[in-house]
Amino acid sequence: MSEVKHVLGISGGKDSAALAIYMSQKHPEISIDYYTCDTGKELTETYDLISKLNSVLGKDISLYKSIDELNSPMKNPFDHFLATYGGYLPSATARWCTNKMKLEPFEQHIGDDPTISYVGIRGDENRDGYISKRENIQTIFPFRKNIWSEDVIKKFLNNANIDFIKKEYSKLNPQNLDLILNYVDQPISMRYTQKQKHNALLDSNVKLFNKVVFEWLKGTDYPVGKLESFSLIDNDDNLVIDDIFQLLEDSGVGIPAYYKPIEYSVEIDGEIKKGTYSRSRSGCFFCFYQQKIEWVWLLEQHPELFEEAVAYEKEGYTWMEEKLVDLRKPERVNMIKKDHYLKTHRQKEKAGLSWQDQIMQAEGEGCASCFI
Ligand code: SF4
Repeated sequence: MSEVKHVLGISGGKDSAALAIYMSQKHPEISIDYYTCDTGKELTETYDLISKLNSVLGKDISLYKSIDELNSPMKNPFDHFLATYGGYLPSATARWCTNKMKLEPFEQHIGDDPTISYVGIRGDENRDGYISKRENIQTIFPFRKNIWSEDVIKKFLNNANIDFIKKEYSKLNPQNLDLILNYVDQPISMRYTQKQKHNALLDSNVKLFNKVVFEWLKGTDYPVGKLESFSLIDNDDNLVIDDIFQLLEDSGVGIPAYYKPIEYSVEIDGEIKKGTYSRSRSGCFFCFYQQKIEWVWLLEQHPELFEEAVAYEKEGYTWMEEKLVDLRKPERVNMIKKDHYLKTHRQKEKAGLSWQDQIMQAEGEGCASCFI
């Protein structure tokens, strides 16, 4: 039996960086291989973040390569795969980029070894992140009250396990055992959903719930079940976006520079207004998931990268419906800034929207492997 590996992917985004710091500080007993998959098209701010993390973590972040750069004529992962796809740019519906440059190198590197992958989905997010279909890879979410992935919860809470769960809770004998057994006893049905049962048990006591799940995992092929002990089951933290920024600041790594709001001016009805823009995510500088205002940020903050993105657009192949040569026209830039200014200020008046809130709104769409 091979030993269980522990890995944590650094995307260049705030959440995976904060998770690496959190795990190294809070769970130093777990030997984690921190890794990144470089597309060759990241922002310099991302490379800066990774080099700062190297020194804070006290160990080098491994690079899981998607190509043999020395022997590829393109010398760069994205350009290599773009050539093999005949110049067909990736998009939200044809996302070969994530598969080829992030998921495949990750799965190749792991091979068949039982592996626990730690992912930085926060307690204030409503998404599950990337879950490998490979049975030897199990995903754990340390920032959430529920550290387990959906597939584990579904199998664990299956009605066939009611007796097992009751027996394990009874062995632990907590003060509120009768209440807990009452929740456990109720089978999942149309009227009592898996979500309701799961929440009731978590709200009763997160650590106890985790202990019972851990006992159940020992009878499965899940990697966590192969461990003698797992300190994450004693963790009931629930970290939200402000905690992430605090962790980054306190560690000395700081917030990735592209999140910092930068002031722009825009003329609206003859008046000059001041708004702020930033980039809401890590990943390739030309990522098709970015918003129009982020393209404008790229144009004004990294004009050379914007020109590189323009050069990729060929007849019929563009990053989005609107061509970048049209987006960069001054009147169009002004229009995008105006729309952004009006939208964010309308929302600000209603809900006191901070720049952190703007990041949260923008991060909903996209790719968990590239942006966490
Ligand atoms: S950041 Fe965007 S373009 Fe780059 S690999 Fe991820 S989804 Fe593809």
